[in-house]
Amino acid sequence: MIWETYPFTRNIHVYRQGGLNLAYDVNSGSLHALDDKAYAWLGEIISFQAKYPREAAKPGRLLAGTGRELTAVERSEILGEFERLAREGTLFSAGAELPPPGTGAARPRLKSLCLHLAHDCNLACRYCFAGAGAFGGERELMSPATGQKALDLLLTRSGEKAAVEVDFFGGEPLLNAAVMRGLVDYGRRAAAAAGKRINFTLTTNALQMDEDISDWLEREKIGLVLSIDGRPAVHDRMRPRPDGRGSYDAVLPALLRTARRRAGASPYAVGAYYYARGTYTRYNKDFDRDVLHLADLGVNRISVEPVVGAGAGLDLGPEDLPEICASYDRLGEAYLAYAAAGRPFSFFHFNAGLEDGPCLAKRLKGCGAGLEYIAVAPNGDIYPCHQFVGRAEWRLGSVWAEPAEPAAPAAETVRRLAAAHVLAKVECRDCWCRFVCAGGCHAANVAATGDLLHVYDLGCRLQRKRFEVACYIRAREALAGGAA
Ligand code: SF4
Ligand code: SF4
Ligand code: SF4
Repeated sequence: MIWETYPFTRNIHVYRQGGLNLAYDVNSGSLHALDDKAYAWLGEIISFQAKYPREAAKPGRLLAGTGRELTAVERSEILGEFERLAREGTLFSAGAELPPPGTGAARPRLKSLCLHLAHDCNLACRYCFAGAGAFGGERELMSPATGQKALDLLLTRSGEKAAVEVDFFGGEPLLNAAVMRGLVDYGRRAAAAAGKRINFTLTTNALQMDEDISDWLEREKIGLVLSIDGRPAVHDRMRPRPDGRGSYDAVLPALLRTARRRAGASPYAVGAYYYARGTYTRYNKDFDRDVLHLADLGVNRISVEPVVGAGAGLDLGPEDLPEICASYDRLGEAYLAYAAAGRPFSFFHFNAGLEDGPCLAKRLKGCGAGLEYIAVAPNGDIYPCHQFVGRAEWRLGSVWAEPAEPAAPAAETVRRLAAAHVLAKVECRDCWCRFVCAGGCHAANVAATGDLLHVYDLGCRLQRKRFEVACYIRAREALAGGAA
């Protein structure tokens, strides 16, 4: 092993969680539970290299300058184990840090489309990034013709891809339910004619999701993301109707109906996918209680996200981190306890794909906004994703004036998005979480820093915390199953 030159600090993350000593190997994506002595020594090695990089690079100094509390036998045993893991490629592994595939490609293939069926809403959420549904513009609904144009664009621009995805979004898309139904029929026919598969998802506040719409969604195998913030008081405080009344009691039946109907199916089966999705603010930093409230109601797929850019005293700051992290810690333990008690639920951010192994292309590319993914506003304007809709400087064109190649300003925006990959960001290059988070959310980064190439610091800290807990859960599961 080349101890003196291995970049420990950027390639290994060590931390303690729930009584386990964990080491995450960044390049291989492997996780190890270490005993106290091996953990302490590895931590010392990493700190020594970070503190004295020149000294650590001298032959023999790293080993000589660390682990002094250990006996010769202990050192030899631990080193032997480290070397075995290194040979196996799961610790101290080398990085293949190539430029992201597709970067610089003139026109990437589209894979998914966010269709803003309605820039209008029947709720008045206090944190609404869409300006209560209108995205800073006029309230309007998408016409069938615009929706069809957008679907044609997706199918044409998807090139050789065999399957495409469409998310019906808003505002509240069910305010335009008849157009949505028509577009599902149109999309299925157009995809079949193009020899492709097309899958649909609806993101809704569920206020208008009556039995008839629920039945149609099941029949048509439409994926669902239903917004609910958790406990009734939390939800009603943040998600009132325009007249100030709460909406919890009105949206819950649709969520429970969906949870009941989709409980048994694999979440990966087309049409069985659903998530209850909440937002937490500084008023519910104990959001683990909101997640468990939903789990106790029988909702078994749950996601909550921190509010971003809401102002009005709702945004989270660095001073909130201890409480937020404590909530993720408690949620991790509850997740394990519920599973052990035979009541498992899926929490979106704990679904760490450690077992999938590294896929360099996927890990480097990020979310694909503006490249593989676009959003289309009701008037047909195209944006890199839903978070950019209505912002003139991010407009990429229109489905009604779609040229063979994007006009120069739009092409430049696409080029900038492609170039804003994880290894292009100063803060990300040495971050141990770089292949998991892929450089964060472009929209959040721009909102926080004004720059695609700099990151939203609070978002980073939460990303890393969530992944630490996700790894801890995998380690506990592996230990319970007898794996080392
Ligand atoms: S349901 Fe969505 S679009 Fe409507 S007000 Fe709430 S956050 Fe905004
Ligand atoms: S965005 Fe933040 S958490 Fe993600 S890789 Fe970059 S520095 Fe790390
Ligand atoms: S920029 Fe952010 S919100 Fe938009 S698709 Fe990417 S991760 Fe999602």
